[in-house]
Amino acid sequence: MIAAGATLGSLLAALPFDALENRILVCHALKVTRVGLITQSERILTQAEAQALSSLVQRRSAGEPIAYIVGRREFFGLDFHVTSDVLIPRPDTELLVELALERLPTGARVLDMGTGSGAIAVAIAHSRPDARVTALDVSEPALAVARANALANQVQVRFVLSDWFAALDGEPFEVIASNPPYIASGDSHLAQGDLRFEPTGALTDHADGLSALRTIAAGAPRHLAPGGWLLMEHGYDQAAQVRTMLEQLGYSEVQSWRDLAGIERTTGARAP
Ligand code: GLN
Repeated sequence: MIAAGATLGSLLAALPFDALENRILVCHALKVTRVGLITQSERILTQAEAQALSSLVQRRSAGEPIAYIVGRREFFGLDFHVTSDVLIPRPDTELLVELALERLPTGARVLDMGTGSGAIAVAIAHSRPDARVTALDVSEPALAVARANALANQVQVRFVLSDWFAALDGEPFEVIASNPPYIASGDSHLAQGDLRFEPTGALTDHADGLSALRTIAAGAPRHLAPGGWLLMEHGYDQAAQVRTMLEQLGYSEVQSWRDLAGIERTTGARAP
């Protein structure tokens, strides 16, 4: 389908995906910018370029997420390196970042639990250089990606290898934010789309979908400053259960917020 001798200008229409994905793949395979694609539209594709592009098209056709193929994803206006060791940052999670930013006093201590690519921690640190941001993850390969993202975005984040609260000392935080694995084991979404290629441990708790949320909610009071906020992203149908969980644990101001699609996606409350 993609042959040497074609012009760059003819490529976009020749690829089978949507317009945005076609352009991302062509630019990545040919190492040209969006502008380059236009200014070089008459240039003839070399054999090596045709091969590189064909191989990316094959990977995408097999379902591999575009973010893993090109190794990048934009989140909160920043560029993040992503590999199959980390969940691909979702636009919905920008809500969690915004809610955290609204609740940070000057010089606040922030904890991102299960940081993955570092998207939440790095976005907060970038918007608020005064904040002291800690990010933890149980996966060392994920932390390596997160460290690279903090460096590339020129922010200071303290990274900790930890199974939830296990490796933390008694330092309190004004805000604890988390986008934990919340998909129930056996949920059909795990076998669909990008999720098939993402780390299972970042998606599902291998239980009812609420176990990581429960662990975080139960442990956070010992790590929150007085009046501090816990903010957790969760599944589209979990908001009521998460609110009940927080109320039973004695949190105050329990509330949920809707994502871009109008779905209650994040629930938060103040330390008991
Ligand atoms: N929001 C992701 C999805 O449903 C899941 C991320 C998560 O489990 N934290 O695709």
